[in-house]
Amino acid sequence: MFNTSWTIAHVFGIPIRIHITLLLILPLFGWIFGANVEIFAELMGLQPGDLLLEPYILGFLLGLGLFASVALHEIGHTWMALRRGRNIRSITLMILGGLADLEDSIDDPSDELKIAIVGPIVSLLLGFVLLSLTTLFVNMAADLQIFLLYLGQINIILGFFNLIPAFPSDGGRVLRAALAKRGNYLRATKTATSIGQTVAIFLAILGVFSANLLLVLVAFFLYITANQEYQTHLMRSTLADFRVQDLMTHDVITVSQYHTVSQLLAMMYDAKHTGYPVVDEDGKVVGCVTLEDVQRIDPAQREAYTVRDIMAKDLHTIAPDDDAYDALKKMSKEQIGRLFVIDEQGSAAGIITRSDVVKGFELRRVERRETTQ
Ligand SMILES: [Zn+2]
Repeated sequence: MFNTSWTIAHVFGIPIRIHITLLLILPLFGWIFGANVEIFAELMGLQPGDLLLEPYILGFLLGLGLFASVALHEIGHTWMALRRGRNIRSITLMILGGLADLEDSIDDPSDELKIAIVGPIVSLLLGFVLLSLTTLFVNMAADLQIFLLYLGQINIILGFFNLIPAFPSDGGRVLRAALAKRGNYLRATKTATSIGQTVAIFLAILGVFSANLLLVLVAFFLYITANQEYQTHLMRSTLADFRVQDLMTHDVITVSQYHTVSQLLAMMYDAKHTGYPVVDEDGKVVGCVTLEDVQRIDPAQREAYTVRDIMAKDLHTIAPDDDAYDALKKMSKEQIGRLFVIDEQGSAAGIITRSDVVKGFELRRVERRETTQ
């Protein structure tokens, strides 16, 4: 498959990955920063001849500096997450900043608050350090002076921008954690989401009026992700006490791997099912077969081929006592509609589909509404 991100380093044993969008945007940043470098130099009372580097090269270096700053911000989140006993899968640097990928969502408000706040603190501290470096050394090369001043300001903006309470930004997470400390996590998420979306709309309007396309994009991104986060949280908390076996279809029809393709086709006519788990002589599931697999075989050859010849061996499975929410996560991640439920002995215990999980979700919602009324 086509790679969209590459690992460039490891920090605390966690891979730092670079997303392809970053490589595309870096020359653009070099160009934008480069154009600003000349204005910056003029404001500082420097002559064009004082600069050793071409403005665009300096701009490109600033672009790299920006992404190193974003990486440090994410490493800040990661460091705190690890301290709080959370697992981080990876850190990905991409076009609209960074992303520290937490293995599980956080359900402890004080942990969430600490993990969220540390990123902006890193950015603000870094900003102040860079800015104060320029005052410490006199006779600094003009290029270095501009680099430090510019990058210092970027970090301060980054710090403050992330503190805007537009959930799921860091500031939004801090807000949700503060709300959740005094009550229900789901309700806190809902309130933080509404506040976040209002702020996002405000930012978008601001972006339109100041002709700032980047701000409009960021606002749009915040608006969409705020709602996604809420939906995910709602789904997760509603499905909390459902296991796969509670929602799956129990009686699965299996097909022997020694059946011929014609026999399989006859079975499909009878049962009106187009996909089956394939079992060996001990009843262990060894693969799965669908109508598409049958279609690949020439009608004249259907007696000569067995199910084993045409079945797919890479199975998407889950255990009966796994969480129903995990089943849903697995299906979306692997972009499939159903999972085979395989018990400890390796036999087919059932099949779970997306709509099985959604049905469970809706039932629980109705039930909860009745008990709260
Ligand atoms: Zn952050």
